[in-house]
Amino acid sequence: MSAELHVNTPLWHSLPISRLAGKPVYLKMEALQPVGSFKIRGIGLLCQKALAAGAKQFVSSSGGNAGVAAAYAGRELGIKTTVYVFAGVPETAKLRMQEFGAEVVMAGPSWAEAHAMASELAEKQGAFYVHPFDHPDLWAGHSTLVDEVVASGYRPNLVIASVGGGGLLTGILDGLDRHSLRTTKVIAVETYGTDSLHQSLQAGQQITLPRINSVAKTLGAARVCDAVFERAVRHKVESLVVTDEQALKACRQFALDHRVLVEPAAGAALSVAYEQLGSVPQASDVLVVVCGGVGIALRDDIFAYAPRLPD
Ligand SMILES: *Cc1c(COP(=O)(O)O)cnc(C)c1O
Repeated sequence: MSAELHVNTPLWHSLPISRLAGKPVYLKMEALQPVGSFKIRGIGLLCQKALAAGAKQFVSSSGGNAGVAAAYAGRELGIKTTVYVFAGVPETAKLRMQEFGAEVVMAGPSWAEAHAMASELAEKQGAFYVHPFDHPDLWAGHSTLVDEVVASGYRPNLVIASVGGGGLLTGILDGLDRHSLRTTKVIAVETYGTDSLHQSLQAGQQITLPRINSVAKTLGAARVCDAVFERAVRHKVESLVVTDEQALKACRQFALDHRVLVEPAAGAALSVAYEQLGSVPQASDVLVVVCGGVGIALRDDIFAYAPRLPD
């Protein structure tokens, strides 16, 4: 198989966050992937395997970053790619997909319609469906993030990451398992209005949110994948929910501290690092997965749907 489509991202020691937390906090800088998020790890591997198995066309359904990653993979692998998007997907994300040569089609009000249309195209035209979060090859790709951290010599005993449909968290938990880091505590973060994992864990069974209501669009999966629910229960993942305001505030502070713009999806995990690490005394070596995201802009008059950083 050809070389990986993702890059080995930097592991930054965050002095500002470490100072606040009173302990070393490291950042896995997935915002610095060529597509702006970790998504290319899983989607890159998924698409490479699909191509090796004979795929002639890719089709994806996406709130933004999965579509950008699919478009990038399609371009790199020379495969025609179609992405079904839905209302509220940031203009900046759609532009990135088109820039990478993908066809972008508006599917309807929510991810459910995009998913249905993408699945139908896959069935009718024999295109390969690049699911945004639910496939074993995708999780295997995401898990390389943990391989890189461990290879650098850092063995965190606390990992903080945000959760949408749960592909990222599934990969992280599999990666921790592979490196015998089963006692490493994991905090999974969602925003109110996207908290499908949190509500599922509270209910002791998977629930489906009636609607998505948060500025963190890329965390907006009404129902998480089975794999993440099972693993989260087994690993005793701690699930936290933050407000949109907390996520946006963390995005702004992070831009000031580290000069990188990230989506509220990443701000959710960062807000726990900024605000709540003091209350996790047993965590001595912290890793925050800065998942990134292209759906962010300095000014909302440039990209009409991108969340704007608060003043
Ligand atoms: C997709 C995405 C998430 C959530 O990942 P899941 O695998 O759906 O849980 C978080 N942050 C960003 C920036 C994303 O693109």
